Parts: sequence; structure tokens; C-alpha cells
Amino acid sequence: MQIQKAIDNLDKLIADVEDARLQLSEHHIVKIVGISKYNSSEDVSSLYKAGQRAFGENKVQDLKQKMIDLEDFPLEWHFVGRLQKNKINNLIDLKPTLMQSLDSIELAEELNKKLEAKDKKMNCLLQINSAKEDSKAGVMPEDAIEIYKQIIQTCSNITLKGVMSIGAHVQDEEIIEKSFNTTKIIFDELKPLGAKYCSMGMSNDFKLAIKCGSNMIRVGSSLFK
Ligand SMILES: *Cc1c(COP(=O)(O)O)cnc(C)c1O
Repeated sequence: MQIQKAIDNLDKLIADVEDARLQLSEHHIVKIVGISKYNSSEDVSSLYKAGQRAFGENKVQDLKQKMIDLEDFPLEWHFVGRLQKNKINNLIDLKPTLMQSLDSIELAEELNKKLEAKDKKMNCLLQINSAKEDSKAGVMPEDAIEIYKQIIQTCSNITLKGVMSIGAHVQDEEIIEKSFNTTKIIFDELKPLGAKYCSMGMSNDFKLAIKCGSNMIRVGSSLFK
């Protein structure tokens, strides 16, 4: 990707995010995480030069490769994919800034056990399957609060920082909005327990997600196009 293209894409995204967040409040700050899973380290480097600092990957192996390729840059890395149990130790060693896809109590317990053994901690978001779609990972919305509390109580090497969700995979905006509102209500209930991030919104629906209270968006295709 040419630097100028990266600058244009990022400028456009920032302008759209600005517009959406200011409709809520001047004090509503939204963090942009660039999802680079379909793109090269060179593309990430172009976006870095345009000003973007936070990136995310959905496979441990790809995350590792990009972290190695780009180790000279002051980037922060997020993990947003399904974490297989046999990749947990590899992810721990990479020390991601935020693991956004903690999607079950079983995974939390397994991750916590391996963190304990290595005397490490990890910042995580609890993933919520807000539209209850079979194709998606995450805990059911009605179980989310209880599971969040349970992880806090039993997994002392995991530091929960909030929630992550993918908007409903449909055309109807009202249904997508409903799925975002479901996540936001849970997030608000978890704030007294230290939840800081409500990560929702991707290329096609981040404006709606911000309107519903998202403070972290994960944008791939429109940033890397
Ligand atoms: C791929 C991916 C994104 C980015 O999706 P785009 O539609 O390309 O913006 C966001 N979140 C997760 C979990 C993803 O896997």
C-alpha cells in the first residue's frame, strides 16, 4: 500500500469516527484498532507512517510474524481471534496489549492456568455473542455478567478490561443496533467492576456502534483497502 493511500484511508476513518463520537459527547473518546489479518507487514508499516499505532490479528502465528517484522516500531498489538488451547502458551509469550476474544469460562481457566505457570498476566476482554449467532464465538448475553464476575474471582492472572462483540451479521440496521445495545447495557453494568473498553464496530458498522456507545472499534477492510 502506498503511503498516500494509507494517509487517505486513515484520514477518512478518523473524520468518520470524529463525526460519530461528537454526536455523543466531546468527551467520548474512541480508540481505533487496525485489523491487519488480510494484509502484509508492509501495509501495517504504511499505516504506521500515516499515524496508526494499534493493530490486531486473529491468528497467533500471524501475530507473531508481524510483531517480529515490525519490532522496531512502537506499536501495540491486539489479539481478536479464536484462541486454540494449543496456542495459548505462544500467545502469552507474545505479550499482546489486549486479548479481546476471551469467549468462554473454560478458555479463561485454561489461559489462567498457563499464565500462572509462567508467572505472567494478560489484559483481556470478555467476548459476548450479542446476537446469539451460531457462527459466532462468545458468551450468551444473559450469562455475561456472571461469567465476568467468575473470571475476576477465579482467574487472578487475567485482568479483565471490558467486553468485545461483533455486530449482528444481517442487513437490517435495527437488528445490528439492538445487538450493540445489548453489549452496551452489559458494559455499563460491568463498569463498577473495572470495565473500561466496550469494543464493538467494524468497517461496515462502526458509526452505528459508536452511536451505541462503543469506545473501541476494530477496522480492517476500510483501512487497508
Ligand atoms: C476481521 C475482523 C475485524 C475487522 O473486520 P472488517 O470488516 O474488515 O473491518 C474486526 N473484528 C474481528 C474480530 C475480526 O475478525
